[in-house]
Amino acid sequence: MKKYFLPVGMLAVFEAIAVTLWLTKDNIFYLSNFSYIGFSLALGIFLYIRKHQHARRIVQLLIGLYMLIYLGLICRENMQIEGFWYYLFTGVFEAATIHYAVAKIFGPLIFGRGWCGYACWTAMVLDFLPYKTPDHNRRGLGWIRYLTFATSLIFVASLFLAHVGNIEQIMFFAFIIGNVIYYAAGIILAFAFKDNRAFCKYICPVTVFLKPMSYYSLFRVSCDKEKCISCGKCKKVCPMDVDVTDNSRKRKNGTECILCMECVKACPKQAL
Ligand code: SF4
Ligand code: SF4
Ligand code: SF4
Repeated sequence: MKKYFLPVGMLAVFEAIAVTLWLTKDNIFYLSNFSYIGFSLALGIFLYIRKHQHARRIVQLLIGLYMLIYLGLICRENMQIEGFWYYLFTGVFEAATIHYAVAKIFGPLIFGRGWCGYACWTAMVLDFLPYKTPDHNRRGLGWIRYLTFATSLIFVASLFLAHVGNIEQIMFFAFIIGNVIYYAAGIILAFAFKDNRAFCKYICPVTVFLKPMSYYSLFRVSCDKEKCISCGKCKKVCPMDVDVTDNSRKRKNGTECILCMECVKACPKQAL
């Protein structure tokens, strides 16, 4: 039974967030929202413990579709980075701001880039493509993320500075158009570089938040050097080119780990 403490603990943490936000903000949406996300994550961990082959993908679909379809399209909440800037500028502590604070800014101090492995609706689609492990070494294109990050900030700041009316409506269309562009760019890059996660590695602006915060992540995959036989299987299956056998925080591509556990599953010596 001890092994099920983690999913139960995860559910408890999210329930605590759900109840706290519900009571402090007097909005029942937070109760249902964080309860649903906590339940999805707990289910995923439970399935992983039970060695279900598709545990991670099930969580990714449960959370990714919920955010994209329900929060984004039905509730018209821009959960992309533009939405975060928008709510930040208006000083409204709403779903997009809370989402960024929990999943992408402070949460990564605990669970690293778990968002990228288990919840992102962009990667949810990209992970269906055929290049699960990269065909080539990384390219030196990571600087593009700073351009996309700056573009999103300048776009929203310009709307405010120009006193454009009905920004809420613009944010909704920006969410739709932004997602179409992300999916198109992600799919083209995946095929061009034979790497499903090329978009994550080079283009995604959210990584500007995620990478520095996940450097300090509490949860990390670590290697038991006594057991490791340096077979290299873990590096071969890693979608993010992480040198997981190095336990240093400075390990190669360390802030790229999405906690997908493919390396753990592939290790023949249970060294990870
Ligand atoms: S890097 Fe960006 S696109 Fe990729 S999984 Fe993370 S948030 Fe999603
Ligand atoms: S394979 Fe291992 S090191 Fe690579 S991203 Fe997944 S969990 Fe991290
Ligand atoms: S797969 Fe396991 S044994 Fe092989 S190099 Fe990685 S950690 Fe070491």
